[in-house]
Amino acid sequence: MHNAAFAALGLDWRYLAFEVAPDNLRTAILGAGAMNFCGLNLTVPHKLLALELVDVLDASASLWGAVNTIRFEGRDEEGEWRPLSDFDAAGRERPVAWRTQGFNTDADAISRSLQEDLGLSLRGARVFLLGAGGAARAIALKLATEQLAGLFLLNRTRSKADALAREIKLRVPALPVGVGYPPEPVDLLINATSLGLDPADPLPLEVGRFPLSRARACYDVVYRPATTPLLAAARAAGCQTANGLGMLLHQGAKALEIWTGKTAPLAVMRQALEQNIYGR
Ligand code: NDP
Repeated sequence: MHNAAFAALGLDWRYLAFEVAPDNLRTAILGAGAMNFCGLNLTVPHKLLALELVDVLDASASLWGAVNTIRFEGRDEEGEWRPLSDFDAAGRERPVAWRTQGFNTDADAISRSLQEDLGLSLRGARVFLLGAGGAARAIALKLATEQLAGLFLLNRTRSKADALAREIKLRVPALPVGVGYPPEPVDLLINATSLGLDPADPLPLEVGRFPLSRARACYDVVYRPATTPLLAAARAAGCQTANGLGMLLHQGAKALEIWTGKTAPLAVMRQALEQNIYGR
């Protein structure tokens, strides 16, 4: 989606994937900066490690406690820090110093996708969230700020859901947070576990304990396959459904805006994603 966007914006940029061992993350970031990269995205398991490795944290990264986007910045002769992409690539204007700034674009992406793809207003909603890993944590912390009526957390390893519930209670004491199956219907069920990546995966919850008809809408962060077993079952139970493609799109679009300073061509990026992921 990034390369399609660069082409649409007329930028001679490339987005490439590199596998980096956690022990090499610091060296990899320094190396990318030395090679005049404009920015980086980071994924599992680097998002938490990078908090300590960047020179400056944007408010989004300190608020959500994870970095998924880095921008390389240069200081000009007037002492102002600007994205490295602002400096003339031919080297006529060179930064006098450079630094890394860490951002988080994941958290806002989930709210935006829920609104766009499910038309859901989160204010006053009851949400049942499955999982307590990296994605679930970002989603839970973000949704906790959206004036929900209640949040229920369920995870295979109960202690991780308990820890996440404690963290949310510290941040948003007014929000009722429960761990386990909700005793009442919910407006939104979100799967943020990795179950569903394989079509043979079991459902991420026991429908005997929580029939899917008790959720008005169901969102699965998994986007490949497009219809996970959970989404198929939720649709059959009459829920409105959406997968995590919109979340992927919006975290990427925001990162692109941070690096380039230009408005992301969302339709181009969505089409590139759909073509690459679903072949359509
Ligand atoms: P983590 O490894 O941090 O967390 C995995 C979660 O899934 C944990 O809650 C884990 O439970 C649970 N889980 C894994 N296997 C099982 C199982 N067999 N039975 C029950 N629960 C299980 O991964 P992430 O949080 O980073 O990613 C989770 C999913 O979200 C992935 O599928 C990923 O592709 C997707 N994702 C989608 C994004 C998007 O943009 N749409 C963005 C980021 C992630 P436990 O704690 O017990 O191990």
